[in-house]
Amino acid sequence: MTPPLGDIAHLGHVELLTPDLDASVDFFTRILGLTENGRQGDSVYLRTWDDYEHHSLVLTAHTTSGIRRTALRTSSEEALGRRVAELEAAGHTGRWVSDEPGLGPLYVTSDPDGHEVALYWGSEWYQAPADLKPGLKNQPQAKPAHGVGVRRLDHVNFLGADVAANAAFTRDLLGARPTEQIVLDTGRLAAQWLTFTNKSYDLVYTEDWTGSRGRLHHIAFATDTREDILRAADICLDNQVFIETGPHKHAIQQTFFLYVYEPGGNRIELCNPLTRLVLAPDWPLVTWTESERSKGQAWGLKTIESFHTHGTPPVA
Ligand code: FE
Repeated sequence: MTPPLGDIAHLGHVELLTPDLDASVDFFTRILGLTENGRQGDSVYLRTWDDYEHHSLVLTAHTTSGIRRTALRTSSEEALGRRVAELEAAGHTGRWVSDEPGLGPLYVTSDPDGHEVALYWGSEWYQAPADLKPGLKNQPQAKPAHGVGVRRLDHVNFLGADVAANAAFTRDLLGARPTEQIVLDTGRLAAQWLTFTNKSYDLVYTEDWTGSRGRLHHIAFATDTREDILRAADICLDNQVFIETGPHKHAIQQTFFLYVYEPGGNRIELCNPLTRLVLAPDWPLVTWTESERSKGQAWGLKTIESFHTHGTPPVA
């Protein structure tokens, strides 16, 4: 692979803002089965059982909901240097910070929409304390005996005022490959799914119907099986977690899904995309049309209206 392809290794973690930190922490730990791994200021660091890094989710107390930082781990120190040089040459000048436990310096910049994007290389491998030691040495942490037990942070779906500009930034400056997209009858790009890995997508940009910048549609956590998603729906039902839509199967990317709102208002997807990997180096970008989209999801479920009206933070 020639850079920029391959310079970003994978999605590392995201920082979500929440107006109800305690309730959000309870949702992610007790219901989804993440583990708290430290606090600093107004932030709580959380990890899934299969995270090799310190954390994959940061919850930060705030006046409203939304996403702050999306952090991407580079494939080497050299790759980090290359990406920073190219970002700065393209006008995306950022700043270096050392403000997260378990991580080296992060270069913080933003995409054209204003979403904060951070790149980093240095990352301490997690060492489980005695009460969280796994049975096998090739697993970072014991599986939780409660809740959904999500395996990893899977993807981030941003809302953006200009999908084409944001997708170009992710492709050309970060080195992602686009795998699927929605193009409207007018020719405008309405959504694009992009990957840094063999997963069929890591980041998604979807048009923000309000024209706002820097908002979030959802973040997604992956489970091991489809059955886990059905069980998650029951767990959410029993715990008064708002279920927005699903379980069902997406047409685009064929992801088996469940969408819920965490107590801070952010939309969270529980997904099972493991049946699909993009191994082909010459994968042809799949384009979905308006008429194809109007058929709804894979098995005919109509796309719920709130999918086009709920984003975080909410707009007046
Ligand atoms: Fe998703």
